[in-house]
This record gives sequence, structure tokens and C-alpha cells, in this order.
Amino acid sequence: MRALRKTEQGAGHVAVVDVPDPLPGKNQVRIRVACAGICGTDLHIFHGDFAKVRPPVTLGHEVAGTVDAVGEGVTAWQPGDRVTVESEAHTCGKCYACRNGRANLCAERLALGYGVDGGFADAIVVRQSALHRLPDRVSFQEGALSEPLTVAVHAVSERSSLKSGEWALITGPGPIGLLVLQVVRAAGGYAIVTGTARDAERLRLADELGAEATVQVDEEDLASRIEQITEGQGVASAFECSGVGAAIGDCLACVQSGGEIVQIGLYGQSISLDMDQVAMREIVLKGAFVHTSETWKKAIALMDTQAVNLKALVSGTFPISTWQEAFRRSEAGEGIKYLLYPEDIV
Ligand SMILES: [Zn+2]
Ligand SMILES: [Zn+2]
Repeated sequence: MRALRKTEQGAGHVAVVDVPDPLPGKNQVRIRVACAGICGTDLHIFHGDFAKVRPPVTLGHEVAGTVDAVGEGVTAWQPGDRVTVESEAHTCGKCYACRNGRANLCAERLALGYGVDGGFADAIVVRQSALHRLPDRVSFQEGALSEPLTVAVHAVSERSSLKSGEWALITGPGPIGLLVLQVVRAAGGYAIVTGTARDAERLRLADELGAEATVQVDEEDLASRIEQITEGQGVASAFECSGVGAAIGDCLACVQSGGEIVQIGLYGQSISLDMDQVAMREIVLKGAFVHTSETWKKAIALMDTQAVNLKALVSGTFPISTWQEAFRRSEAGEGIKYLLYPEDIV
């Protein structure tokens, strides 16, 4: 079969190559891929600045498709089942984090698309416990967005303490920011989304998806806008989704005293922060990293009840052979989310 692979370490070394059809082993399932989403991680792997990648490996960790073969010991799944897949491929199962329902923090965690072969291919083999059934009304394209949706669900529903009727600030209107926005709305919160002039299109989409307000931080004074929008109440929770140093500064400046900041974006370097503010205003700083199996159940329920609009985030679909154009658009920030699909599925 054909697969988009990172063939060796370093910048580049990504190509569509022929690999043997994978066979499902014990407790494993093979999925015929319908489509898989391109994520920032794939771009980092392409550029050679994602340290955990283990080439040669097939990229792609946001996958939806149809079960087409099952290995020994698999009884819950049958060929024809429509599924999406947890991106977590391996954890140790023994460490403190694994034993306490926080396998996302396991030091041995490996995910599809960099540690184990991913979904930019005709087929993928995964552990049976990684599968989640797609409700009938959820399309494969929406299903491929379940992984980024779980990132947002984990941050909002499992890490933050945002309550219905409270205000949230979301910095960075990329795919994750726009999903955090929707999960905040589904939880009854009110959202203010920030970006820069470069993000004008994405901020317009944030408006459509239910933001109470959007702010271009390079054109407007964010603190005074928040003061006005929230009628002096301020935001209870800030979700930093951009990985840009100025944005965490905005979060700290604008969150109400006693409020919280949930860090989701990655900076790739150390940044400076006015920690005196954290102390004197009793700000709670929290990290949010990927998802657990429990998160997936919540995300699927949100998809099933149509509480989130995932279709609005899909900017285009490309056959795997034209991955370079899809990567280029993702890199340029044109649109939101691009999906790749195997040629013979169209
Ligand atoms: Zn991703
Ligand atoms: Zn572990």
C-alpha cells in the first residue's frame, strides 16, 4: 500500500512510499482509512523539529475509517464498523500516571504518526481498545477531527474549572482555539477569542461559531475591551492556544484575580512571565496535554448531539499524493484544517 512516511531524521525526508499491507495481530484491528487530518505536529515532523519522531514511520494521527480486518481475540469489532481512533498507541500501564487514569502523562507514551505508523496511508493497524464507533450521523471528515476535539474537551471539561455563565478568553483562533471555543459554548460559557490582523478570517469564523466577541490584539486594547464586554466581571478562565509569548502575557493581564490560565499551545522554548502577578492575584496556572480514553467518550457524545460544528473547520481534502499542497496551505495558515485521503477511496 501507499503511505506518507518520514523516512529519516532531519528536515524534510517525507515522501509517499510503498510499504507492505499491515496485518492485525492479537487484539489489533486494521482500519481502511477514509481520511486523516493534518496537524501542526505533522508540520513540525516535516521540518525536523519534533524530537520524538521515530523514522521510518507513517505520519498522521487524526484518523477515521472503516474496520476491514480483525486479529485474534477481537470480538467487539467487525469489518464494516465506522470508527475513529485514539492517537495514543503505547503507554507503560504501570507508572503512577497510568495507574491513576492519566495515561496522557506517561513518560513512555507513544502516539500514532510519530512513534507508531499513522493514518496517512491506505490502512492502519491499531489496538482494539483505541477504537470509538462513529455515530451514524457523524461523517468520516468530522470523525477525523475527533482527535483535536478531544484536546479541547480535555482542556475545558477536564482541566479547567469554568462554569456555565462564566467568561473565557481564548488566545489563538487556530483549529484548537476554535474547538476550545465550541466546547466552552457547549458547557454554557461565554467566549472572547483573540488573534492578530493576520487571523481576520479565522476570527470571523469564531464569530460564526458562537464567540461573544473577537479581538485583534494588534489593533485594539484587549484589557479595556474585556472590561467593556464582560461589564467589569473579567474572564474566569483563559485558554492559551497559540504558543506565542505575547498571548500568555495577555492571558495573565486579562484573567480576573483568582482566575485560571490553561496552557494548551506549545512555545518550543522558555518564555518569561510576570510571576508576581500569579502570586499577588492568586492566578492558577494549569497545563492541558492531549487526552485520555475517558475524554474520547465525551468528545464522541458532543459530536453525536451536534453540540460542536466540525464541518466548519474543514478547509479542504486532498489525495495523499498531493500532500505537499495540503501541507503548504496548513503551514501558511490558509483555512483551518486540511484532510488527506487514500486515492482508491474517493
Ligand atoms: Zn493533532
Ligand atoms: Zn505509564
